[in-house]
Amino acid sequence: GRDYSNVSTTNDSNDSDKLLGGLLATGFDESSCLSRYQSPLYRKPSPYKPSPYLVSKLRSYETLHKRCGPGTDSYKKALNQLHQEDHIDNDGECKYVVWVSFSGLGNRILSLASVFLYALLTDRVLLVDRGKDMADLFCEPFPDMSWLLPLDFPLRDQFDGLNQESSRCYGHMLKNQVVDNEKALSHLYLHLVHDYGDHDKMFFCQGDQTFIGKVPWLVVKTDNYFVPSLWLIPGFDEELDKLFPEKATVFHHLGRYLFHPTNQVWGLVTRYYEAYLSQADEKIGIQVRVFDVGAGPFQHVMDQISSCTQKEKLLPEVDTLVESSRRVERTPKHKAVLVTSLNSGYSENLKSMYWEYPTLTGEVIGVHQPSQEGYQQTEKKMHNGKALAEMYLLSMTDSLVTSAWSTFGYVAQGLGGLKPWILYKPENRTAPDPACGRAMSMEPCFHAPPFYDCKAKAGIDTGKLVPHVRHCEDMSWGLKLV
Ligand code: GDP
Repeated sequence: GRDYSNVSTTNDSNDSDKLLGGLLATGFDESSCLSRYQSPLYRKPSPYKPSPYLVSKLRSYETLHKRCGPGTDSYKKALNQLHQEDHIDNDGECKYVVWVSFSGLGNRILSLASVFLYALLTDRVLLVDRGKDMADLFCEPFPDMSWLLPLDFPLRDQFDGLNQESSRCYGHMLKNQVVDNEKALSHLYLHLVHDYGDHDKMFFCQGDQTFIGKVPWLVVKTDNYFVPSLWLIPGFDEELDKLFPEKATVFHHLGRYLFHPTNQVWGLVTRYYEAYLSQADEKIGIQVRVFDVGAGPFQHVMDQISSCTQKEKLLPEVDTLVESSRRVERTPKHKAVLVTSLNSGYSENLKSMYWEYPTLTGEVIGVHQPSQEGYQQTEKKMHNGKALAEMYLLSMTDSLVTSAWSTFGYVAQGLGGLKPWILYKPENRTAPDPACGRAMSMEPCFHAPPFYDCKAKAGIDTGKLVPHVRHCEDMSWGLKLV
């Protein structure tokens, strides 16, 4: 294994690997957030480098964030606009987009990355509603200024109740024809949750962006990775091409820039890694997320996992006629399999199989599952800490198998820079054939994209407009960058 003991905890290294090719800013106190500079030690260097333009955009964003962040004069001035609805000073220096904490952890990570990209594209400052646990899970990503929305923010107690019917919901206002292009508003609520309607989806039209762009405070609730559709908005597309010349690297870079586990979560990651994964010659991640109702484990899911991993040669077959061949390798290859699932049955099954029978290849297979929480417990703190640690651990593997539709898997593949094998969604409790297929890119899938041609004012297949925005492998109506 590698020696992690002399990981520098001072500020003296300009090592570009450590800063992820300039993606990360210097100047943080390293001990307060060990993961920020230590995570490269646990992964192979990424073959994807951030563009110099993205790097400079992030540095200027950090300057903006520091100038406009909570407590600054600009922030106070902007807050005043919230109180003085009628005469908004449109040259306020700072505009904001507030991300409201909503949904499961994977969804939250993807939606937050999307809202941050929107902030970059529109020169807004991102502020994060901490919800129950955001501050416990993630370090501050920007130097010298918090990204957390202050607890005394005036609209905060309304966040839970925000929905499609809220009076300041943009879609609701459009529907009721109360959007007045002449009148400046101090704030708008953008409802971009998967259940949103056609009027809410007008967010993705250039003309609507012109109106929305004038509003100093935007409050967004979303559980989706809406980046692919930003790429279809004229006015954003050119800037996105410059920021991400390699288009399918958006979440990979933004995720590594924004999401640094706190020291407590990082302890969960590193202790597990060193105990069960670091010695292996090869690490395979298998993320099992079953959306069927009823208690697992399910035989059809187990069959699907074996069929996929064996057919794709990720894991060896076993010799069930034990006596006939007993190949003894002198230095057998050791593969560590990291299984994550709410249910313990899938890894127990794999583990028994590789204990009871020898592999045909002579490889030694160790199967490990960090937690088995039983069911989703979104509001519990350690539960989400473990979920984040597991996404991180999966991202450190060499090959990854994920489950269709799961944002948990999308986060792992994106952070890891891995194109996963996706276990297709079973129908009627039957394993699909083929069991899995390789993803086209490591990007997450946007599960609820609009299908609307803003110019023609008509429906259109948004997965067929440009070569780099396509329908997803695991969800036929979803959109992803490739
Ligand atoms: P998705 O529902 O698969 O898209 O992923 P989300 O992360 O948005 O929501 C699922 C939630 O269930 C997670 O945030 C966890 O709280 C929990 N969960 C699901 N799978 C796992 C798992 O393998 N390990 C752990 N620890 N939690 C999980």
